[in-house]
Amino acid sequence: MNPQKKLREWYLLNKRELPFRNKKQAYPIWISEVMLQQTRVAAMLPLFENFLKRFPNPETLAKSSEEEVLSYWKGLGYYSRARNIRKAAIQLVDQYNGSFPKNLELVLKLPGIGNYTARAVLSIAYDLPLAVLDGNVKRVLSRYFGYTVNILGPKADLDLQKMADDFLNREYPGDHNQAVMELGAMLCLPESPKCLLCPLTEGCFSRIHGKTKEIPVREKNQKQIRLTGEIWVIQKEDLYLLIKEPKTRFLKGMFHLPYGFLGDLPNEEYEPSELFLFLRKHWKLTPSIGTVKHTITHHKLEYSVPHLKLSHIQELETQLRSLTIEFKWVELEQLETEFPSSLARKVKKILLY
Ligand code: SF4
Repeated sequence: MNPQKKLREWYLLNKRELPFRNKKQAYPIWISEVMLQQTRVAAMLPLFENFLKRFPNPETLAKSSEEEVLSYWKGLGYYSRARNIRKAAIQLVDQYNGSFPKNLELVLKLPGIGNYTARAVLSIAYDLPLAVLDGNVKRVLSRYFGYTVNILGPKADLDLQKMADDFLNREYPGDHNQAVMELGAMLCLPESPKCLLCPLTEGCFSRIHGKTKEIPVREKNQKQIRLTGEIWVIQKEDLYLLIKEPKTRFLKGMFHLPYGFLGDLPNEEYEPSELFLFLRKHWKLTPSIGTVKHTITHHKLEYSVPHLKLSHIQELETQLRSLTIEFKWVELEQLETEFPSSLARKVKKILLY
């Protein structure tokens, strides 16, 4: 029996009973895949069921307000996913009659849907021959085929996607994708894989050569990136401006003080926003009241803190609206709760000094 067949048989006998796998329907599969991106199955299940009860199809989701969708997303975090789900549902209703198009390129154009989600939905719901690649699949394939290139490096995703495509069971792509992911979650564990129980044990390179500890190779090689910039405190009487910009590199999806980077930037993702350039142009003489240092993953950030006191805010608010930037004015005491980052605390310390 070929390995794909063994894998599927093992899956059909051992799969966990999960409500989103009961029916081959694109909508619940899509919602479950997005919810599972940052949340474990057990924590996600009650929220998933609640969500589907209120929004049983793309039509109900498309008709609902953003606030209501966000309220059903409580407990899952990363709220930009919920906003994108609603936007994508609106497009599904407007352009595709409420159904998922059976085409990878078209699905990838929907807001918030990346390669993994698109392939998972299309293969599981419609049995399109598209192999998925997530962390579990990468581990299983690199061990099974003895792939020893760093899986965190730039080449690995292309190599492993090709491997996944070649390994796909084209007769049952949906079952196959779920089987590889399930194998990674249940048996081919990062530490101590249960090779004796594994349906792929016979042909597995890492099991045969005793290399399950070394493979997959994970070498963190991220160079530190140093950035300097400004984080603006804009004050109107006793209130301070917080904004939510859709395209910022950091602090996405939360209200924050306006910021931007200056000087030589590593690439365009760090380029200053239009709002930041507007502030620097219109109020270029604004004095800085100090400097804050902040670290985000491998980024070392250093901001000077211009403090702008405005008596007339109309021009600024007009600009914010024309850039479709959400904004609000908050009291100093609320700064850290409304802008939940240690950056808020650091800036507040300077303001109170
Ligand atoms: S035999 Fe072991 S290492 Fe190989 S795929 Fe199965 S669980 Fe993973």
